Amino acid sequence: MGIDNKDTSYDSLYKAFEERIELLAKLPKMDEDNSIEKVIKENGFSRRDFMQWAGMVTAMLSLPSTFTPLMAEAVKVADRLPIIWLHMAECTGCSESLLRSANPSIDSLIFDYISLEYHETLMAASGWQAEQNLENAMHKYKGRYILMVEGGIPTGNEGSFLTIGGHGKKGKDIAIDAANDAAAIFAIGTCSSFGGVQAAAPNPTGAVPLSKVTNKTVINVPGCPPSEKNIVGTLLHYLLYGTLPALDVFNRPKWAYRLRIHDLCERRGHFDAGEFVQQFGDEGAKDGYCLYKVGCKGPYTFNNCSKQKFNQGTSWPVQTGFGCMGCSEPDFWDTMGTVNEPLKDRLYHTAFGGLGADATADKIGIGILTVTAIGIVAHAAIAVIKPPKEGE
Ligand code: SF4
Ligand code: SF4
Repeated sequence: MGIDNKDTSYDSLYKAFEERIELLAKLPKMDEDNSIEKVIKENGFSRRDFMQWAGMVTAMLSLPSTFTPLMAEAVKVADRLPIIWLHMAECTGCSESLLRSANPSIDSLIFDYISLEYHETLMAASGWQAEQNLENAMHKYKGRYILMVEGGIPTGNEGSFLTIGGHGKKGKDIAIDAANDAAAIFAIGTCSSFGGVQAAAPNPTGAVPLSKVTNKTVINVPGCPPSEKNIVGTLLHYLLYGTLPALDVFNRPKWAYRLRIHDLCERRGHFDAGEFVQQFGDEGAKDGYCLYKVGCKGPYTFNNCSKQKFNQGTSWPVQTGFGCMGCSEPDFWDTMGTVNEPLKDRLYHTAFGGLGADATADKIGIGILTVTAIGIVAHAAIAVIKPPKEGE
């Protein structure tokens, strides 16, 4: 059962969520001895903490606070959705960031609780047994499992740059097979969503995004790594709605990626006022000025980092004094330039006929309206100038 995303009547949405949770609750529990209450308690969180977290996720998914108890109920049945998590060409950073924090957040505990039927980093099995486990899980939960894929898919030399397991099966073929029978497919991280660093020029392994090797819809959850909130939120959204979230032009869930870093940044007032850090450690840096001139790519990047933050909501890169690198944008390794330098006219050239962003920033007294206009076209500019990759 899937719920129409566009249904704006909260009463009918609430009822539909209730019915879906009821339906999921009838499916067998993966571990009878486990419950979310137990997991939360064992990790030192109170029920109050849990309900606060449920309220935060409810707001994050743009639902009214009256849905909070329902969100808490939804988490209880999250272990009914079997998940297969594949590793392709990647650094495992997405898994690590979600699962290995010294003080796990409730988001990462939710991930412990769900039914990870196959995850190479976490499971005890190895070798032949691991391969068998994957086949068994795909067979047992055919058409029901959620597929999460971390990493780009090497396709060069017929996919032979990535082989996995004793039978030397190609990563590309494993991903295709697993995608065929999945109920929903999430590309976790920028490598899986857009190719990532593997696909950066000259892309020797011919790495491509997951969406290039399957005809099925892939929900991209990019970031290097993506925040745990965006991963868990995407999962809970699917759990509640049973259907795909509203997606942007790059198939990213709009609830998480519809706004630019720049639009939500606490330093935005300084950008508008023309107050910039000129070099790290200067007086502007101490005063929390805008980081655009020391390389912040926030004006070109769509993500919710400044709102949801990292490390249990304590901070995010710009808050610490370092600019956004644009990690949730396609091909950011190739298109976002040197980390500590502004893009100058490289991205803006097409949109402004040669007027660079630096020039614009230097003349910042010209007013907020102009700056806002610059921002609005930035997204389009990236799409316009992005050079086609080999094979695209
Ligand atoms: S350029 Fe970066 S630091 Fe400056 S306001 Fe935009 S996002 Fe914030
Ligand atoms: S601030 Fe920018 S570089 Fe950092 S995680 Fe967010 S999108 Fe990625």
